[in-house]
Amino acid sequence: MALSEREQNRYHRQMIFPDWGEEAQLRLKNSRVLIAGAGGLGSPVAIYLAVAGVGTIRICDCGTLELSNLNRQILHDDSRIGKNKAVSAQETLSRLNPEITVEPVTDELSQTNVQAAVGHVDLIVDCLDNFETRQLLNSYAVKNRIPMVHAGVYGMRGQLTFIQSPETPCLWCIHSGTIPKVLFPIVGATAGVIGCLEALEAIKYLSGIGTNLRGRLLIWDGFTMEFTELPQKKMPDCPVCGGIK
Ligand SMILES: [Zn+2]
Repeated sequence: MALSEREQNRYHRQMIFPDWGEEAQLRLKNSRVLIAGAGGLGSPVAIYLAVAGVGTIRICDCGTLELSNLNRQILHDDSRIGKNKAVSAQETLSRLNPEITVEPVTDELSQTNVQAAVGHVDLIVDCLDNFETRQLLNSYAVKNRIPMVHAGVYGMRGQLTFIQSPETPCLWCIHSGTIPKVLFPIVGATAGVIGCLEALEAIKYLSGIGTNLRGRLLIWDGFTMEFTELPQKKMPDCPVCGGIK
């Protein structure tokens, strides 16, 4: 299946990368991605994956848009207050790029529905705000051998890594357990920085361009504008990925 003339035109500026061309663009078009969360991180991730031409974006969020979300959740606007965030995301993304398919999932991810909610995807992008659901997705990803881009933001700091079990440590190896959900300060640009890095990791993986942050945890401190990288190791007795070869 070839790209249409409109698609050739739309994606021209990225297709002229030496290793990109029509082939990598078709790989993006035939990709199916789950974005878990349509909030601060999910907004830039979804926007950049949509405009890059990722063919099918499944976006999952059970939350309702509130006025206090709008300092960072740029997928949404004032007119969408009270609306489900996944549905609002679909409206924005379809307007940005009518050539892709967007599937909103409005259920809360749980042990019982994770299979149906995520389904068969090529990549999961973690844009969640809590470690409980992250660990649920991590287990699903490890079990089904689906790679996952993990990121988190807190205040003016953020972290990012690329997980592909069994080659890399899983999220449990990197951060076992959960952290209680608390209200923390955040400015939209912080989620923007980390979300854009997540989007780039996803685009590179799906198109087959460049290298990913495998086994490397990137930490960003917005106060001092410093990036640090911490190598990560697999936990031999990890309850999630231990024993998986
Ligand atoms: Zn593990």
